[in-house]
Amino acid sequence: MATGNINVSVENIFPLIKKFLYSDHEIFLRELISNATDATLKLKHLTAIGEAGGVEYGNPRIEVKIDKENKTLHVIDQGVGMTKEEVEKYINEVAFSGAEEFLEKYKDSAKDSGIIGHFGLGFYSAFMVANKVEILTKSYKDEPAAHWVCEGTTEFTLEDADKKEHGTEIILHINEDDKEFLEEARIRELLTKYNKFMPIPIKFGTREETLPLPEDAPEDAKPETKTVDDIINNPNPAWTKQPNELEDKDYKEFYRELYPMQFEEPLFHIHLNVDYPFNLTGILYFPKLTGNMEIQRDKIQLYQNQVFVTDNVEGIVPEFLTMLRGVIDSPDIPLNVSRSYLQADSNVKKIASYISRKVADKLKSLFNNNREDFEKKWNDIKIVIEYGMLSEDKFFEKAQKFALYPTVDNKYLTYEELEEKIKDNQTDKDGNMVILYASNQDAQHSYIEAAKAKGYEVLLLDSPIVPHLLQKLESEKEKISFVRVDADNVDNLIKKDEEKISKLSDEEKEKLKTDFESVVPKEKYTVQLEAMDSDAAPLIITQPEFMRRMKEMQQTGGGGMFGMGNMPEM
Ligand code: ADP
Ligand code: MG
Repeated sequence: MATGNINVSVENIFPLIKKFLYSDHEIFLRELISNATDATLKLKHLTAIGEAGGVEYGNPRIEVKIDKENKTLHVIDQGVGMTKEEVEKYINEVAFSGAEEFLEKYKDSAKDSGIIGHFGLGFYSAFMVANKVEILTKSYKDEPAAHWVCEGTTEFTLEDADKKEHGTEIILHINEDDKEFLEEARIRELLTKYNKFMPIPIKFGTREETLPLPEDAPEDAKPETKTVDDIINNPNPAWTKQPNELEDKDYKEFYRELYPMQFEEPLFHIHLNVDYPFNLTGILYFPKLTGNMEIQRDKIQLYQNQVFVTDNVEGIVPEFLTMLRGVIDSPDIPLNVSRSYLQADSNVKKIASYISRKVADKLKSLFNNNREDFEKKWNDIKIVIEYGMLSEDKFFEKAQKFALYPTVDNKYLTYEELEEKIKDNQTDKDGNMVILYASNQDAQHSYIEAAKAKGYEVLLLDSPIVPHLLQKLESEKEKISFVRVDADNVDNLIKKDEEKISKLSDEEKEKLKTDFESVVPKEKYTVQLEAMDSDAAPLIITQPEFMRRMKEMQQTGGGGMFGMGNMPEM
C-alpha cells in the first residue's frame, strides 16, 4: 500500500473548498456524473477507433446509489477507468492543482455566488459534502484495479484492488451536516435538475413497469408489473438532433419534457444550430405572453454538452429574448467568469447577435408563409418584438418587415404598408406624412369617426411600447409626423405641433370657455378646449362644417360643390 502527500502549497485546501463553495455545494453530483460521462464517452471513442484493447463498449450506463446504512453515496460508471499511475497523475496532481488554482484566483470574488456554481471544480467538489472519499477504479487496459482513499486532508492512500470490470466507482462518506444527500428525494431532485439530458443513461434505483395485457385477457385481469431500472435522463434530447429529423409534435413533446408544469402549448419554436465561428445548438420557444409580464418561472436553460449549467442566461441571450423559453447548449460560453466579463467577451457577443438574427429570420418566415396566422399570434408575441425593436437597432431593421401596427379598423399593417396608404393622401402643408393615432377607441370615438369619414388611416396604440417605437420612427425617418387623432384639426391635416401642456387648471379652462361662449354666437361657432393648451393658439374658435360650406356657397353664388340636400338640419 502506498501513502503519500497531495502536492499542494495551500496548507489545507479542504476547509477552503467547503467555505467558498458552501452556497452551491449541490454541484458535486453534477461534477461526478460529468466525470463518469466523460470516462464513458472516452471508451466509446477508443472502441470506435479500435484502440480499446479488445474491450467492448456495449450499453454502458452510470449508476447512482444511496447506501443509507453506511451513509455513503456511490457514483458508478463503466468507462475507461484509471490505472494507479493515472490516479496519481489525474487525481493527486492535476485535479488538485485545478482546485488550488481556482481558490487562488477566486477566493476574493467568492461572495459573488453566481460564479461559484458555474465553476467546474471537478472531482474535489466531493469534499464539500463528504469527509472521506474513495475511488475504486479499473482501467480498460490490462492492469490491476486501484483503490484511493482520502479523508479530507492532504494525505491519501493508494493500493491495488480486485475490481474486475473496467470503470470507476466513487464512494462519498457523507458528512453529518449534509445528510440530505442520503435522501432519495433530494438526489432525484438534483439528478433531474442537472442531468436530465446527459448523453449516457443514468440509473437511480428501480421502478415498477406495468406490462400490457395480452389481447385475449379477461376483463377483470390484473396487469402484471415488472421491476426495471429507473433511468432518470433522456440521453437524446431534441436539440441534439437535426431539424429535419424532427416534426412539429416532437418539438411540442420536448417543450413538455422541459417544462412539465406548463400546460399551454408554445406558439412556435426556433431550432438553433451553428458550429462556426462558435458552437451552439438549442431550441427556443415563443410562449404565449400576456400583457402583464408576470415573473417568469420557466426560463431558458443553459447547458454545456448536455449538462445543465444555469437558467440565468442574462448577458448571453439578448435581454429582450429572455422572455422566451427553451434550451441553449454551447461549450463556447465561458462560465467561470463574472457577468460583466461575459458581456464583454467577443464570443458571447457573437452568440447573442446570432440568436437575435435567427429569431428575426424565423419571425419573418412565419410572416411570409402565413400572414393570417401571424396576425392571430401578434398580440401574444408583440411584447418581445416591440421591446426588441426598441433595444436593438439591427433587430429593429429586420423587424420592419414583419412588425405590425393595428388600426382602429382591426387591420394589421406593416410600416411599409401604412406608408404606402398614406404617403399621397395624408400629408400636411409641409409635405410630411401624417400618421394619425388613437390610444383610446371609446374616448376618441367621434374623432376617429371623423378621420375615417375622410378616408384616413388611424393607428390604434394598444401596447405601452408602441408610442416609444413611433417616437423612434419619427426621429429616424424624415418627413413623417405622428399626430393624435384629436390633438389637432384633422380637417387641415395640420403641421407638427409641440406637445401641449396646459398652464391652466380645469376650472380656469372651463371659465375661459364659458366666457368666450357668452360672446361668440353658439350656433355659428364652436369653442374648442383642446387647442387652449397650446401657446401659439391659446384657444380655437371654429365654425361647424356646415356653416363653413354655407358661407362658401354664398360666396360662389349658391350651388357649387355642396348641395343643400346633404346638409344637416339647422
Ligand atoms: P476535469 O473533469 O475538468 O478534467 P476533474 O477534477 O473533474 O477535472 O477530474 C480530474 C481528472 O480525473 C479527469 O480529467 C480524469 O482524467 C480523471 N477522472 C475523474 N473521474 C473519473 C472517472 N469517473 N473515470 C475516469 N477518470 C476520471
Ligand atoms: Mg470533471
